[in-house]
Amino acid sequence: MDQAMIDRLAAAPVAAGKLLIEGEWVEGAGETPVLSPIDGRQLTTIAAAGPDDVARACASARDAFEDGRWSRMAPSGRKAVLHRLADLIEKHATELAVLGVRDNGTEISMALKAEPGSAAGTFRYYAEAIDKIYGEIAPTAPNVLGLIHREPVGVVGAIVPWNFPLMIGAWKIAPALATGNSVVLKPAETASLSLLRLAALALEAGVPPGVFNVVTGPGRVTGEALALSTDVDVMVFTGSGATGRRLLQYSAQSNLKRCYLELGGKSPNVVFADAPDLSAAAKAAATAIFRNAGQVCVAGSRLLVEASVHDAFVAELATATRKMAVGNPLKLETQVGAVNSLSQLEGNLGFVADATREGGEIVTGGTRALEATGGYYMDPTIVTGVKPEHRLYREEVFGPVLAVTPFKDEAEALRLANASDFGLAAGVWTANLSRAHRMVRGIRSGVVHVNTYGGSDVTVPLSGMKQSGNGADKSLHALEKYTDLKTAWIQL
Ligand code: ADP
Repeated sequence: MDQAMIDRLAAAPVAAGKLLIEGEWVEGAGETPVLSPIDGRQLTTIAAAGPDDVARACASARDAFEDGRWSRMAPSGRKAVLHRLADLIEKHATELAVLGVRDNGTEISMALKAEPGSAAGTFRYYAEAIDKIYGEIAPTAPNVLGLIHREPVGVVGAIVPWNFPLMIGAWKIAPALATGNSVVLKPAETASLSLLRLAALALEAGVPPGVFNVVTGPGRVTGEALALSTDVDVMVFTGSGATGRRLLQYSAQSNLKRCYLELGGKSPNVVFADAPDLSAAAKAAATAIFRNAGQVCVAGSRLLVEASVHDAFVAELATATRKMAVGNPLKLETQVGAVNSLSQLEGNLGFVADATREGGEIVTGGTRALEATGGYYMDPTIVTGVKPEHRLYREEVFGPVLAVTPFKDEAEALRLANASDFGLAAGVWTANLSRAHRMVRGIRSGVVHVNTYGGSDVTVPLSGMKQSGNGADKSLHALEKYTDLKTAWIQL
């Protein structure tokens, strides 16, 4: 990728964001300034949808669903539209990535792959699935025919976070649209711009008006109105546990809509002394937590290291960490970009202060970086001596702060790995095949990486256990969230 092209795109002014309702771009009840985490300056504004705006968007999605303009389109027609959308995402990939980075601060090298690249692949994957999934015929008695149909649920409300808006947005929007639903999307207020651009591309690709609506604005106003809407049949969400709890309450207060929640993690990365390559493990442990400034739901944020190699491993990890380039996320060489917002940065520093108060020891980092830029940066931070009762062990920071804890043997490693309310991801480093499988079976999390950390693609599910949530994003399993089963029982 060419730095000059990125610089050129990054210099372009950003138009004010509007709401997309019934295929039209409209003003909202208010507007919110968008500050760039790169320099703290205002980039543009986005519309803040009030309850009436959200009600119109949901009614539009409901009407579109009921009249069948998309829900009853031939599968091959929906497939062609979603492939066209993937083509457009690829065509505008750099523009989408740069816009997203200016808004949320992810380093561009990562954003290019994880954002438009992954979103286009996700749209293609579900476009291809549309005409390859059949209903079923049940093995009933011969005088009966039992047909099992799969139908779209209706209107899907999607609330997504700011760390990977296009990637996570696509995980929800693509399977929802592929199965014939209408969607009302609420992006995070600090990362709406690339999703607004995606919505424009969806219209261009031929998604009919009303089938995909976007309402931007604050979570407590716009998001709450969406989650309370009786026009929404299913709510899909990625974000914090606190908001996930609220969504369940809104569901109970309104129409008992199903809620599928992906609520982050505190994922253990477990290094045994018999790992095939401890140096590789140390480098991977650094990227597992510090890329995108730790703002990754599957980040390996708890490092558990066998005591016999702990000190040497931490020394190698610290060396790798100090080499990571923190800086302007629009530069291709940057490995650790900006923290998304000032409040997020302050929260990160609060975690470090609490960790040292509770007896943890800072090996490197711990402080705000590059303050003169006006942007929100933090030095990657390693804290050793973190115990299960410490706040840094229990709570998700969602920032570049790694908690390190030693263990004596496999039994203790497993106990420590599972000593968390979360269960999203994990890593295990060992050359012992049996031990690797025992750990995979023993760790309660949606994914366990072995001798690597963080790899995945659209073919495998991401689904939380425990308080990391429920329901799968990605893979064909995700389709279950967006479809209802219906039985036809026919007497012959
Ligand atoms: P984070 O801590 O990662 O910002 P949040 O859960 O606060 O996580 O935000 C994730 C998404 O949830 C954002 O789009 C945000 O606007 C939305 N959100 C926040 N609070 C609410 C709420 N009370 N109701 C609905 N959506 C909300």
